[in-house]
Amino acid sequence: MHAAMHRFPEVRLRRVIRTLLERAGSEPAEAAQVSDHLVDANLRGHDSHGIGLIPHYVRNIANRTMRPNTGLTLVRDGGAVMQFDGGLGFGQRVGAELMERLIERARELGTVVAALRNVHHLGRIGTYAETAAAAGMVSMHFVNVTGHPPLVAPFRGSQGRFATNPICIGVPGTARHEPFLLDMATALVAVGKVRVALNKGEEMPPGTLVDSQGQPTTDPRVMFPEDEAARGAILPFGLHKGYCLLFAAELLAGVIGGGGTSNPETHRLDTICNHMLTIVIDPAALVEPEWMEREIDTLIDYVTSSPPARNGEPVLVPGEPERMALEKRRAEGIPVDPVTWDGILEAGEQVGLPRSEAAALLANA
Ligand code: NAD
Repeated sequence: MHAAMHRFPEVRLRRVIRTLLERAGSEPAEAAQVSDHLVDANLRGHDSHGIGLIPHYVRNIANRTMRPNTGLTLVRDGGAVMQFDGGLGFGQRVGAELMERLIERARELGTVVAALRNVHHLGRIGTYAETAAAAGMVSMHFVNVTGHPPLVAPFRGSQGRFATNPICIGVPGTARHEPFLLDMATALVAVGKVRVALNKGEEMPPGTLVDSQGQPTTDPRVMFPEDEAARGAILPFGLHKGYCLLFAAELLAGVIGGGGTSNPETHRLDTICNHMLTIVIDPAALVEPEWMEREIDTLIDYVTSSPPARNGEPVLVPGEPERMALEKRRAEGIPVDPVTWDGILEAGEQVGLPRSEAAALLANA
């Protein structure tokens, strides 16, 4: 039997996480920004990219492989091509600053391609596409990860060679429809989802993991072994095609983005370092806005009119599951499993937020 889940209202959770991050060394504005990103990820149903990351972040701050209060640095401004360095700062802050710059540039030029290297974990990539879409911009994001051992096996392989490299594409909404948001790991699941299963004492779906011998397993523990040689791997989604996309993200983010790839040289840091190639396009530079809006509306109506293959499971538009989770969790509170919550409270203690104070912050209306 599983221990009962906690269920916390978002406002209270934001307050605890913000305070914890301030104690960990972030200035108040940064602490609020990171806390909001994490809680928003939980609200949208992505617990793998929510507050459960706090113990990792606290550990990396202590190891000095993540640097609070570090903003985005412009390395080279080539007009429609820009290069930035994240200085291992909080990805949630650096990523937000990046999008602000890119949206402004795409407004001027119609488009911009940007490389962001060496940033600590960017979190839920969809956040950045949502920011772009809210400003009327299309955006595409290719991300790779260095700093820790690989987790995802190549197609036909049995050992990890890649991270879970997310790809994200956002298209602005219309008066009638919310934005399109494709935001996915190119692995069958994000590693955080395996961690969530481990914490909840659940098995992973069959066909998701292999053990260190390349044999199929449903045991999430194979991804978190004591001994590195015993580490299993997550499989790419979509057989060879998903593997091709995973590989493409590694090349685009790691090589063209300039931060480096998942080769063994980059594992030594023992942190979560992201590199991202982002393309922002102002659609008004290519198509007439009224026409675009009409086409999007007609297309979405047509696609979603396809009769459900299974009763009660209507066709959804990418981004809709996140909005449905948002509505439900805003109303009912955010579920947090006890192991994850305890890990957060322990991380809080390490940075000078006693459990009693965290409890008081959580209790205050
Ligand atoms: P997921 O499988 O839950 O969703 C992937 C996409 O599918 C989403 O765009 C979602 O809207 C869409 N979707 C889901 N069900 C659908 C349906 N029935 N119909 C239509 N569309 C549907 O996501 P994931 O692959 O587990 O990724 C989770 C998160 O992990 C993402 O936010 C990603 O950015 C993040 N991530 C980050 C990193 C990093 O290094 N920063 C690494 C990996 C993943």
